Amino acid sequence: MEVKTNKEYTAMLHEIETVEREIRGREDRILEEMERAETLALDIEREEDSFREVESAARTEGAELAAREKRVAEEREGVAGRRDEIAATIPEQPLYLYRRVASLRGTAVAEARDGMCQTCHMKMRLQMWVDLRRNEQLFQCPSCSRILYYEPPPPTVSVDS
Ligand SMILES: [Zn+2]
Repeated sequence: MEVKTNKEYTAMLHEIETVEREIRGREDRILEEMERAETLALDIEREEDSFREVESAARTEGAELAAREKRVAEEREGVAGRRDEIAATIPEQPLYLYRRVASLRGTAVAEARDGMCQTCHMKMRLQMWVDLRRNEQLFQCPSCSRILYYEPPPPTVSVDS
């Protein structure tokens, strides 16, 4: 390229300057983008760390739950075995009554206290209350049909001497 006049030379210099400014602008943008990429990479790393933490905590919790489930299943088996042992010692008729009431009411027995079924709060006749307290035969609550049990109060210790 041949530069002929001073005017043309000036114009060329101006053009070069413009192109150089444009190049600097693009380089700045590239630097900005590189910084942004670095920040994003750090964010990703942080997110991955926190994900790994949560994942590990979930794994630990899952293992604990599985262990607890196993313990509860074992306890349940133990209790069921004990229930069967006890049931085997109860005569057929009261056992049948127990199962029938339990299937109807959920709970087959209720405490009798102060002349009253403590589950449905039905007040019983005086004679029944007197007979029941002897604990010699089974009574059912006339209202809810549950088998009533009576626990005598602990003997009072006399302190007069
Ligand atoms: Zn009752």
